Amino acid sequence: MSDLAPRREANIEYETDEPVLYTVENGVAWVMMNRPRYHNVQNSQMTYALDAAFRRATDDDAVRAIVLGGEGKHFSAGHDIGTPGRDIAASFDRTLLVADHANKPHAEFLYTREHEVYLGMCRRWRDIPKPTIAMVQGACVAGGLMLAWVCDVIVASEDAFFQDPVGRMMGIPGIEYAAHGFELPPRIAKEFILFGERMSAARAEHFGMVNKMVPRDALRATVAEMAAKLVPQNRLGLWLTKQSLNQVEDLRGKRSAMDSIFHMHHFAHAQNDLVSGNALGGVDGRAMAAANKKQAGEA
Ligand code: ZN
Repeated sequence: MSDLAPRREANIEYETDEPVLYTVENGVAWVMMNRPRYHNVQNSQMTYALDAAFRRATDDDAVRAIVLGGEGKHFSAGHDIGTPGRDIAASFDRTLLVADHANKPHAEFLYTREHEVYLGMCRRWRDIPKPTIAMVQGACVAGGLMLAWVCDVIVASEDAFFQDPVGRMMGIPGIEYAAHGFELPPRIAKEFILFGERMSAARAEHFGMVNKMVPRDALRATVAEMAAKLVPQNRLGLWLTKQSLNQVEDLRGKRSAMDSIFHMHHFAHAQNDLVSGNALGGVDGRAMAAANKKQAGEA
């Protein structure tokens, strides 16, 4: 008897062939998520394109700093859990030594996929040997947090907000790259997940999760100015500096904490699947967006 599962039907309609835009200006690579119609929710097409862009920026000796941003009103509204371009069942050439998830049964399917696409890739990007700046406007929700958190510096506009609603909505203890307790004081991190409410850029800056908050129309210029200061610096020195602080976080237990939380995350996915037949507890993008808007007092 085979221990593999039949491949799931994948009706994927990508709205773009360029889910990530890549440009280099004056020694700075600008990596821009480009699904503005869907608030830059991340499908695999996008995460693999992000990985390719980061590889390109790493390989190009002319690039000395990297900016990660999102086209449109929002940085990223999270993982794609409901657009026509949702490609969860599609196979891609992996970046890590992880098997293809697409023909794996039950909990192994999502566990394998998220090992590669979420936890694994985010760790790779956090360890890029060049300094990275996240440029955040509008929504930075759930999977969007992961992308901001892997960057060395976060600059946010005044209208930016940060939120992890997966605990409240799905009964899962936060997103896959579970850095909450390192990005925020533990009690605030608990509040952040337990209530799943929006945290303003001002409050995030207060806790040191955001380095700098600026008016929306000054965001790009501020980030460009900061990145330009890194360009003439010593390449190896920049790499060593970011590694040294990443090392401090890991010595404080970040890596092992995230490993253990990743497994709780998947225990909760499996429980959802057993109880409701859906690993996300029946929540889709539309339901998530409606509940978040209601909670925030929007229409
Ligand atoms: Zn997950």
